[in-house]
Amino acid sequence: MLAYIGLGSNLQNPRLQIENALRSLRDSDGIELLMVSSLYESKPLLDMPGPNYVNAVCKINTNLNAIDLLEICQFIENNQKRVRKVKWGSRTIDLDILLYEQQIISSDRLSIPHPEMIDRAFVMVPLHEIDKEINVPLLGPVKKLIDRINKLDVKKI
Ligand code: ATP
Ligand code: CA
Ligand code: CA
Repeated sequence: MLAYIGLGSNLQNPRLQIENALRSLRDSDGIELLMVSSLYESKPLLDMPGPNYVNAVCKINTNLNAIDLLEICQFIENNQKRVRKVKWGSRTIDLDILLYEQQIISSDRLSIPHPEMIDRAFVMVPLHEIDKEINVPLLGPVKKLIDRINKLDVKKI
């Protein structure tokens, strides 16, 4: 199964946090890391306080189902000492499953496609960088969706 994961960090050496999370994904049983975008810098959502974020998107091939993939992502977050305080607060690492094949999932634990993804430059710009042909279920081709994104919200680093 092809899946796309968005990564973000704004604490404790964000670049290293992203690299470590990518290494953990690569080393996980049942996950093959196919592609990684450039790194991008973005400001916290809704003018939340805190340092700027480093973001990236990766493409994987996996034989895990979506819930098992979520569990791996949360294991990696915990492993990198993510502490949950306020919603959208600063964090060492965040791993969001953006897309899982063309599946549409809406449960308590998992929403795929990730509900906010198409409004977020720090997701759509790196996603479009690594895959221009992909479709977001219900919403359309990334090639079209990218037109509504303010590219100035992110800076390639
Ligand atoms: P946002 O989801 O708006 O980017 P966030 O990443 O800060 O916010 P978290 O605190 O990381 O939110 O996650 C809260 C919960 O979201 C998780 O416990 C998880 O069960 C759920 N969740 C739902 N859909 C997804 C998804 N596609 N990828 C990752 N987590 C998801
Ligand atoms: Ca997130
Ligand atoms: Ca998350």
